[in-house]
Amino acid sequence: MSGSWGFVDVASLVFLAFAVPVFLVLLRVPAPYGRHARSGWGPAVNPRAGWALMEAPAALVMPCWFLAGSGWEATTAMAFLLLWEFHYAYRAFVYPLTLPPGARRIPLIIVAFGFLFNVVNASLQGLALFAKTSPRDASWLVDPRFLVGTALFFGGLVLNRRSDATLRRLRVENDGYRIPEGGLFRYVSCPNYLGEIIEWLGWAVATWTLAGFAFAAWTAANLTPRALAHHRWYRERMADYPRDRRALIPWIL
Ligand code: NDP
Repeated sequence: MSGSWGFVDVASLVFLAFAVPVFLVLLRVPAPYGRHARSGWGPAVNPRAGWALMEAPAALVMPCWFLAGSGWEATTAMAFLLLWEFHYAYRAFVYPLTLPPGARRIPLIIVAFGFLFNVVNASLQGLALFAKTSPRDASWLVDPRFLVGTALFFGGLVLNRRSDATLRRLRVENDGYRIPEGGLFRYVSCPNYLGEIIEWLGWAVATWTLAGFAFAAWTAANLTPRALAHHRWYRERMADYPRDRRALIPWIL
């Protein structure tokens, strides 16, 4: 599959380029789910089914590329697959079950877009990592890029999951929205999104591929506008919302 190298690089650049208009559109039009749900976006589905359907391709497509590529020979390939599944096996098959029974329905258009994104992205990541004629040898596992990237990945993952758990507890105790407290919520409105962005930045550094950096950019392009919209929403509706709390990055944004 030596020819796929050129293709993956070009495809990653095109993918990266698409993140720019998506970012600009989302700054003006928040994705219509959760607290930003509104009429006019078509039919909506059960949120548990919606999240599972949207995220399952990422969890399932990656192992296919792993099996089709050089996975069995390379320890590094196994490490990349494990990192990926640490996130996506949870997101696709566990996270939907943690949603509270009264969680809002999710528009089908969001599910369709998420599904498509995950098929394309997991294929790009899989091709970049596993469809190489000379896979990274085991020395990559002690390369500073892999070590720093993996540390960022798990740091982001812990922040993301802990913050999501705080939000979940709020919802269990109360029907509506309340001011989240504790942890990084002291400083920002959306530490769950900050954790997710750090996680995929870590992935980009650990894998050191253009595809990995394109995915990290997409995550930031998607979640930064959503964090700004959440922050605005809190400030407009909650008179006692802490004034010194920022949207996404402590003291900065
Ligand atoms: P939100 O923070 O909008 O909501 C998470 C859950 O917590 C929802 O059930 C929400 O209810 C509830 N909730 C949020 N704030 C409050 C509050 N103040 N009081 C009570 N309940 C609250 O996250 P998303 O749904 O956008 O994302 C969920 C996960 O998916 C996150 O971990 C995120 O990082 C990840 N994600 C990743 C993306 C990527 O590009 N990689 C894209 C989108 C999400 P309700 O739904 O009713 O608002």
